[in-house]
Order: sequence, then C-alpha cells, then structure tokens
Amino acid sequence: MSEPKKLFIKTYGCQMNVYDSERMAEALGGQGYVEAKSADDADMILLNTCHIREKAAEKVYSELGRFKGLKAEKPDLKIGVAGCVAQAEGEEIMRRQPLVDLVVGPQSYHRLPEMEAKTREGEKALDTDFPEEDKFEKLKNRPKAKRGPTAFLTVQEGCDKFCAFCVVPYTRGAEVSRPADRIIHEAQDLVERGVREITLLGQNVNAYHGAGPNGDMTLAGLIWELNKIDGLERIRFTTSHPNDMSDDLIEAHGTCDKLMPYLHLPVQSGSDRILKRMNRSHTAESYLRLIERIREARPDILMSGDFIVGFPEETDEDFQATLNLVEQVKYGYAYSFKYSTRPGTPAAERPQVEPEVADDRLQRLQAMITQHQREIQDSMVGRTVRVLFEKPGRLAGQMVGKSEYLHAVHVTNADVATGDLRAVKITGSGANSLAGELI
Ligand code: SAM
Ligand code: SF4
Repeated sequence: MSEPKKLFIKTYGCQMNVYDSERMAEALGGQGYVEAKSADDADMILLNTCHIREKAAEKVYSELGRFKGLKAEKPDLKIGVAGCVAQAEGEEIMRRQPLVDLVVGPQSYHRLPEMEAKTREGEKALDTDFPEEDKFEKLKNRPKAKRGPTAFLTVQEGCDKFCAFCVVPYTRGAEVSRPADRIIHEAQDLVERGVREITLLGQNVNAYHGAGPNGDMTLAGLIWELNKIDGLERIRFTTSHPNDMSDDLIEAHGTCDKLMPYLHLPVQSGSDRILKRMNRSHTAESYLRLIERIREARPDILMSGDFIVGFPEETDEDFQATLNLVEQVKYGYAYSFKYSTRPGTPAAERPQVEPEVADDRLQRLQAMITQHQREIQDSMVGRTVRVLFEKPGRLAGQMVGKSEYLHAVHVTNADVATGDLRAVKITGSGANSLAGELI
C-alpha cells in the first residue's frame, strides 16, 4: 500500500478561516490526504490567508518565499494559497511567486479535489469565482472523524454593509445565508461526532435569514431549533452587527437555556461623527441603549467588542468619546486595532491620522479594556460556573475548559475528562485564566 499524502494548512485570521481550513482538509481527505505535522513533512501546503489588515499580502509572499528550499528538495510538493488574499490577488500570486501551484478563493474550496488533481498533472489551478452551487452542500459527504467538544459552524457569509474601512464585502462577497435544514443537519452530525458546544459563524451572523420550512428563519429561530438537539449543550454566535440585533434574538438571550451569556458586538468607535464617516449607521447612544436592553434580558451577560483607533480624521475628542463608551459598557473582552488602510475602500482616500498618535490612542484604549477585563475576571472568584473541559493544561494534572462567559478555567488533579461539563467553584484569578475546584 502506498503512503498517504500529507497536507499542511496554515490558517491566518478569523474563526471563519479556521472553519474553512477544516472543510478544506476534509475535502482533500477524500483525495487521500492526511494531516502533516509541519510544512517540512507535507506533500501539499495551503496558506489560508486573511486580508483584513495591511501588509497581509506581503506577509503571504514572504512566507511563500520561505518554501523555495523545500520545493527544490521536493519537486512534487504542491503549494496553494486560499482565503481572502487569494480572492483579492488572484492570478497575480502565481505571477509574483511562480512556485505557487494553486490559488483558491473562499467561495470555491469545494472544487479543491479537482484543482489538486490538475496540479498533479503539472498544471496550475486558479479559482476565485463566486459560484452558484452551494459549497457546503458539495462537501457534505465527508469522512466522519471524531471531534473535540467545541466546533465552529458557518451559517452566513459575506457582507452588504460596506463599512468605509473594511475589505470583507469585496473579498467575501455579498451576504448569503445557508438554508436552516442544512445547518441543523450539520449540527446533528457534529454532535454525533462528540461536539457539545457549537459557535455559529458569520461576518454578520445576526443578519442570518436562511430558508426555513415556513419562509426565512432568523438567527433566533435557528438557535431555538438547535436548542432541541439532544447532546448539544451550548450555543454561541459571532460576529454580530448592532443594527441586526433583533428583538427575538435579545429575548432568546434571556430564555434559551443553551444560548451562552456572552455577546461579541463590535461598535468600532464611540464618536457619532466617526461612526457616520465609517458608514456604521448606528450611534454611540443607540448602541448603549441596545446593550441596556440586552442586559435587561440577561443581566449577567458578558459583553465583548471591536474597536478601531486612528480612523481617518479621528480627533482627540472623538477618541475621548470612545474611552467614555468603553467606561460605560465595561467589556469582559474587546479587540482593538489601529486603523489599517485598505486600498479600494472609501476611507483609504481620506486624511490619515499620524501613526504615533494612533499608537498612543491604541495603548490607552487597551489599558482601559485590560483593566475592565481584569476586574470582571476577578469578580468571578467565589462564584460557581459550569465548565466545558477541552484539553489537558500546561501543568501536570491540569485540565482546562471554558465557562459560560468564555473565561478559561483550570482545575488540578480532578476527575474530569475532555468533553465533561461540570460545575466548578472559582478559587483564583490569574493573568489570563481562572482557577477552580469541582463541586
Ligand atoms: N462584521 C463584523 C462587524 O461589523 O463588527 C466585523 C468583521 S471584521 C472581519 C473584524 C474586525 O476587524 C472589525 O470589527 C474591525 O474592528 C476590524 N477591521 C476591519 N477592517 C479594518 C481596518 N481596515 N483596519 C483596522 N481594523 C479593521
Ligand atoms: Fe466589514 Fe463587519 Fe462592516 Fe461588514 S459589517 S463591512 S464585515 S466591519
């Protein structure tokens, strides 16, 4: 019997890319590929790229350059570029880096088996189409490997919002929702393979409106359907846009027992002037009111968000408005980024903020967020949470998992296994995790 071929995928960027990488591995699994531990060991290397911030393409080219030696040693090694840089750069990638055999956009990876076969014939394969057929449907007959306790499940892709700074509407295309029955089927399949927590993914996940048995279903409707699956214990979703936070979804946070008390709701800025220039179509005030309503439905919910500092024309006053908003919300987690110019987006043409000013603002914002994060984490000490255990920890005898609020929690020398969901009393709060004891 011949040795199986080995595939190494390096994933950059968001959770949707993590999900896509898993699907690509499964698609190529049908061609006899198994996972390689490193690029050195592989017969095929795929870089699943992200284009959200600057220099992404340059990083991909320099990473590709490093494979020159490997390719010289192993002429049969195939090298591919997938994801949003593949979508944005297309054929240019093969022109600039001739060692690349394959370029596949995020909407075409179900065509990877045919593309891989083409490269084995010595040809180059390029596909950055937005095809009509459903890539998820084409991939459904994949091997049923056992899974860990948590999984991502993409329910919606693309975006029609066109925030002035963002490339997603260009690289991922228009907003599309998958039909509800296919998602429910995929969730059931994941549960049969050992998954107990599913995070529903979409660039604008709460704008979900997939076909259901009685017309379009909302995200809340889908969550209620998933709530019925025996063996599925937890449901999460990300990333949401404030304008799509519908009444039924807010209500579900108060009433749906498997929906976890954690919400990632990016605001980007606390200044109405900047929000308008960003084309966000919400104000700081409407965002704060929305959070109030969410907290009424679920008082213990932990909020998370995204911020951009140094957006073109941002003044000290605008930035102060962002700090004021953060002070009011008190996020348990938040991701803050320095504005990064994306050619082709409206904001790229506007007067830019000095990099040192943006750096300073980023540091100040992150210091405030870290302080709140720490306070919220510390306030968990003495409380009882439920932890879904995911893996052994770094120290001997340790097991780690996540609480409802997505805090990492570890226990030591306890009788727990991966996949167990147990009540834990929190006894200590460290830099990035909580310590606890089983109850
Ligand atoms: N759809 C989500 C939303 O509207 O909140 C966000 C998706 S985007 C992939 C993730 C985050 O990347 C954004 O919330 C934003 O903070 C950040 N981001 C997007 N474009 C950026 C840019 N040009 N510069 C800096 N950060 C950016
Ligand atoms: Fe990008 Fe999110 Fe705005 Fe869509 S809603 S354009 S994904 S930041």
